[in-house]
Amino acid sequence: MPFSLARTRKQPQRILAVALSMLLPLLLGLPILYWQAQRTLEVEAQRAAHKAQSRIETMLDNANVAADAVLHLAGGPCANAAMALRQQVTSLAFVRSVNLVRDGILYCSSLAGAYSEKEQLEQYVDGRLRLLPGNPVTPERALMVLRKERDGYASLVSIDGLHPHNALLGEQSVALQLQIGRYWMRADGRVFDTKPEPLPLAHVESVSARYPFSVHAGYPTGEQWRHLGERFPPLLGLLLVLGALAGASTYRLTRGIVSPRSELARAIEANEFVPYYQALVRGDDHTWSGVEMLVRWHHPEQGLVPPDQFIPLAESSGLVIPMTSRLMARAREELAAHIEQLPQPFHIGINITSAHCRDLALVAECRAFLESFPPGSIILVLELTEREVIDFNSVTEELFGELRKLGVRLAIDDFGTGHSSLAYLRQFQVDYLKIDRSFVSLVGTDALSRHILDNIVDLCSRLELGIVAEGVETVEQADYLKTRGVDYLQGYLYARPEPLEGLLSTLSQPAR
Ligand code: C2E
Ligand code: CA
Ligand code: CA
Repeated sequence: MPFSLARTRKQPQRILAVALSMLLPLLLGLPILYWQAQRTLEVEAQRAAHKAQSRIETMLDNANVAADAVLHLAGGPCANAAMALRQQVTSLAFVRSVNLVRDGILYCSSLAGAYSEKEQLEQYVDGRLRLLPGNPVTPERALMVLRKERDGYASLVSIDGLHPHNALLGEQSVALQLQIGRYWMRADGRVFDTKPEPLPLAHVESVSARYPFSVHAGYPTGEQWRHLGERFPPLLGLLLVLGALAGASTYRLTRGIVSPRSELARAIEANEFVPYYQALVRGDDHTWSGVEMLVRWHHPEQGLVPPDQFIPLAESSGLVIPMTSRLMARAREELAAHIEQLPQPFHIGINITSAHCRDLALVAECRAFLESFPPGSIILVLELTEREVIDFNSVTEELFGELRKLGVRLAIDDFGTGHSSLAYLRQFQVDYLKIDRSFVSLVGTDALSRHILDNIVDLCSRLELGIVAEGVETVEQADYLKTRGVDYLQGYLYARPEPLEGLLSTLSQPAR
């Protein structure tokens, strides 16, 4: 069937279905990828925060060792302690200075020796740890100070802010912040006593169990998309490939879904149905008498499709009406333009079906057809197959009455294959009988078979109707039919159905 290869033109639903199925893997996959990206960022933030936390704990462990080592010296003279303080600074990593406190006064320092500065105990979280933007010696350099206290004396160990800042330089785009009490060290290493802007994405806080500080980690907004683009190209690529595959299969699947009826309707609109013409000869003198118009479908993919593959559907779907109408319009245009080259009067046979007999529309079609030709130059013959019995009712009576008034003639096609009674032929006032080619092909076979043909020809003669023999293929058949007085002969022996140019060339030569 030509319908199995229905085309895609004018099918917005199909395009929509293909587009949707291409998008589907992306639509389903993207939220999953997005969610996964978010999860990955959370895990990475957690890991980075934890890593920074343990690095800072290591620094504070060193400071703790130093603080413990000198605590017993607190309270004693600074001169005795100075050497021990400096020794801690040089022997322990991260430690910048070691100091002693007595009566709330920082009185001895590894940096400056004997000294006097009031200790700001309230700045320490739990009296143990503080973070400050700078001190009087180096106001621009952040410091972290660990404090140890015993019996009213204390040791203070400072760590240069550079070290915790290094720990906050996490990998990739994760942002890290250190919080000690109300002081925060930001990712750039600067210290403020105000809470920074919260990290909007995948924010986690890793709290140290051993020292009073915590590390915050997170990402700027939109990071998940950047992350997607950076880390998931293979997955995105896979989704795109899946989309393309889904689109291609939908495209293939929906090919078959196009309904045969809509395919026919499309073909009518696209003028893919074209008239072919098969020339007939007169039985007596072998001159050209006219044509039968036979439709062909110029299918864009299947090529030339013969009528038996689509006429039944055109009839059952009612599309045979617009199809015939277009064919008649095209045939009258083509033939009227060459009326000079046609023998006159020129018979033009057109096949109609029972669908045409349900209203009077055919009258106007035939009138328009006849009016396209000089008066009397053509004889329009409507062919109605005997295989289909048509009810005679008031509509058909009026229809065939009107057609008769216009001079249109009626032929019963495929005569002998159906069961049209005499009464039937009279009611419709038939002009011609077209003997089916299955009977014509009996010529030259056994006597009994030929007897059937003889009977049919006799019956036609007795009804005094014009006789057309279809499917004449051999000279023997032609000679026999002529001796039996058949009026018109149609068949491959004389001409095949062909488009206008072929017909004109056929008619320009005498029939064989
Ligand atoms: P049909 O009306 O009986 O048309 C005659 C068919 O016999 C045509 O087949 C024609 O090509 C074929 N034929 C003619 N001479 C010979 C011959 O010597 N030998 C053989 N073997 N065949 C011959 P086609 O064109 O394939 O049409 C088939 C049928 O399709 C037609 O049978 C007719 O019933 C229907 N049809 C064709 N065109 C139209 C149309 O425009 N409207 C309608 N409603 N039906 C059409
Ligand atoms: Ca016919
Ligand atoms: Ca026929």
